[in-house]
Amino acid sequence: MFVYIIIFMEEVKITNMVKFYTVLLLLEGPKTGYEIIKETGAKMGKNTSPGQIYPFLKTLEEHGYIDASEPAAREKVEYRLTASGKKFVNNMISRFGEIIKIAIEPSLSTCAHCGCKVYEGGHKEDIDGKHYVFCCCHCAKAFREGRDE
Ligand SMILES: [Zn+2]
Repeated sequence: MFVYIIIFMEEVKITNMVKFYTVLLLLEGPKTGYEIIKETGAKMGKNTSPGQIYPFLKTLEEHGYIDASEPAAREKVEYRLTASGKKFVNNMISRFGEIIKIAIEPSLSTCAHCGCKVYEGGHKEDIDGKHYVFCCCHCAKAFREGRDE
């Protein structure tokens, strides 16, 4: 049963940014197809077409990740995430988080003295006209003194 669920979840692939934004929007709350088209378009800075949204919504629905409301007369269908849909989106977000972490890793500075990673800020110092990043002022001091010897 457990294995079955995992395979089932893997069937919906988030293969592009439109899909990515669609599920994020649904996590905010119920949306109509029209709202999803408008809001994904706004986020991406280009128009999203209904053909990018409705087949994907259908796939999500078939997997039980969203429910479509039964609209009253003149009302639009609203799509809302089910409990398993929320789980799916949250899993996706943590997976993307890992990917983003890996992607930004090489751009992190490393302390010129001890070599540890400096995520933001840190201690910056110009020594002999060269710009160095350290994790802390103690490493900067040790580095300076090491050079003087
Ligand atoms: Zn250091």
